[in-house]
Amino acid sequence: MSLDPVFEPIKLGAHTVPGLWRYMFPDDVMYFRVDPETKSSCFNCPQVKAAGFHPSVRCCTVIPRVPNFLLGMALFDSRTEPMITDYIAKGYVLPEGCNISPSQLSASLSYIVKPDRDKPTVICPFLNRESKACRLYSYRTTVCSTFFCHHDRGDEGRIFWEDLQDLGSQIEAALGQWALGEVGFDVASYFNRFNSLGLSLDSSNDPGSDAWSESSRKLLFGDWYGREGDLFKRCADVVIAHKDQLYAIACRQNILQTATYDEATRKELLKNFPAYLVSEALPEGTPETIQSLWYSVQLSHRNLQLSRQS
Ligand code: SF4
Ligand code: SF4
Repeated sequence: MSLDPVFEPIKLGAHTVPGLWRYMFPDDVMYFRVDPETKSSCFNCPQVKAAGFHPSVRCCTVIPRVPNFLLGMALFDSRTEPMITDYIAKGYVLPEGCNISPSQLSASLSYIVKPDRDKPTVICPFLNRESKACRLYSYRTTVCSTFFCHHDRGDEGRIFWEDLQDLGSQIEAALGQWALGEVGFDVASYFNRFNSLGLSLDSSNDPGSDAWSESSRKLLFGDWYGREGDLFKRCADVVIAHKDQLYAIACRQNILQTATYDEATRKELLKNFPAYLVSEALPEGTPETIQSLWYSVQLSHRNLQLSRQS
């Protein structure tokens, strides 16, 4: 395993975050004054009692959107390599990384609309249910690193973490697409092919499991089908090689979206979840820029500091 510091988790205040954070965010983030979120005590999760969360699953009832380069880093790590290799072999990943399949999305919505806390229908594949530990801890997404169900400083803390989550998620999306382009993957063509799956949603799901179908993975991976792990490791390599420029690279990246596919999925899901989906409109237009998300983070961090003085 490489000794590059990107593999070593670091501290943001009292919180442990992936080592890549030191590089993918603007430098100022590492100097932020961040209080410990003592009420979100995950190994003694208060939501088990308060909200009836399953004690061994808690809030890990999601399929996290782990980008290709973080999966690649996890493949370079002998502790996480077998888990990622197995997950790839089962058909759960696409070129950008982990991506919720149509049937997983349907199960997830069922759980949101009518949660049976005793029987969570979607459980993160990277959760160790016995120890309750995250098996992807050093390479987890910004969403997982910034989620706290309680905030010791109330709304100011919540807004700060949410803004940092939005920024980190957008940077991860940008870097995932940039890395694909850097290793010779035709990103624009990939998005066109992905959108074409919206014409036959049924065929995107594996008939025998809740994974992506073989035909959809062949379509999306193209020449890389069967070498998905190599693709992710190549993406990790280019991200690590450019680690001192990652924020600037992310800012320059034109982030593409699977708008046609998303709309087709939404129409299909509307049949089963009309009340929920009508109130949850798909975002329209171009995504917010990374620069404006960074501005929001700076403002919310400032408000967090002011709340400490009042
Ligand atoms: S963040 Fe999740 S696991 Fe941690 S305390 Fe809150 S609900 Fe429980
Ligand atoms: S990656 Fe880790 S923290 Fe995130 S949902 Fe899965 S188990 Fe939970």
